[in-house]
Amino acid sequence: MPSITARTRKMLWGRSGGVCSICKKPLFEDETMADDLSVLGQECHIVGEENTAKSPRGLHSMPLDTRKLCGNLILLCRDYHKIIDDQPNKYTVDELHRIKGEHITWVRQTLGYDEEKQEDDETYLAIAEKWSAMAGLDDWDNFTYLAIAGDTPTVKTDRMQELELLQEWLFKRVYPSRHEELNNAFENYRRVLHDFRSVFSRHVVPSDGNSKYIETKKFYKIDEWNQELYDKLGREYDEHTSLLADLAFELTRAVNYICDLMRAHVYRYFRIHEGLSVAHTGTWMDGVDRVVRLAYSPNERTEFPYPGLAKFMAIRCERDFFYGPPK
Ligand SMILES: [Zn+2]
Repeated sequence: MPSITARTRKMLWGRSGGVCSICKKPLFEDETMADDLSVLGQECHIVGEENTAKSPRGLHSMPLDTRKLCGNLILLCRDYHKIIDDQPNKYTVDELHRIKGEHITWVRQTLGYDEEKQEDDETYLAIAEKWSAMAGLDDWDNFTYLAIAGDTPTVKTDRMQELELLQEWLFKRVYPSRHEELNNAFENYRRVLHDFRSVFSRHVVPSDGNSKYIETKKFYKIDEWNQELYDKLGREYDEHTSLLADLAFELTRAVNYICDLMRAHVYRYFRIHEGLSVAHTGTWMDGVDRVVRLAYSPNERTEFPYPGLAKFMAIRCERDFFYGPPK
């Protein structure tokens, strides 16, 4: 069963004013949430999570996959979570909806709830969650490993198709005007993605015997014996693959930049469990494959940190990690 999403949590906590819906005691998301999901506030199911008699208010026609949505959750303290589950005859589904509705009205009237900010934040989270799924952030390690670490840059075919759709989707996004810097960070990512895809597509073939992958064509392999041409193409191949690696590193920076700004402006727990996206660097001289953390430095955090392909090729050796042009 998928867990409650960041957007749902943000909706529930924001609309509930961060206090218990029954006793109004202030609740806090635990500071150590990065390690442990235990929170002082409890995101309680109105219709039970499972369709069994064991789950309080669980026997219900509501589909299981909608039970983790905000509409079926109520924010309570630990004590009241226990009470409502111990007394399902008093705290019925209807009664809990009534309590929640009254509570949300009370929050709006008494706690000076910023409805517009809440709505904007929910919109940002909806965009960011779709983006992180389509960009494959949960599979980032594997993505950079295939694209960078081996001697032939490789990408899963379906990932590449998804990235193409993502690029179009981001291009059409209308963002709330609240956080210009964050809006630009999404656009920054889109520009890097565009150039990564377009450079990759210059020399691409389906992987040998496996249609699930595409890879860079080894275009230096020629039929005729021509040392000069072979050397020239070999250099071009090295240039091509090192540029691709540097673009994959830049894409990783662009990912971390968005996540950082999401945490700073919208939701401080955004992807905190998953942590930073890191990139595989390929095997070093000592034969060990390394992983690096990549981020834009404070002075690189301009309106659009990625300056476009031509400029990037000139400045890529100033980044925190790079392959650079082959020597
Ligand atoms: Zn309470």
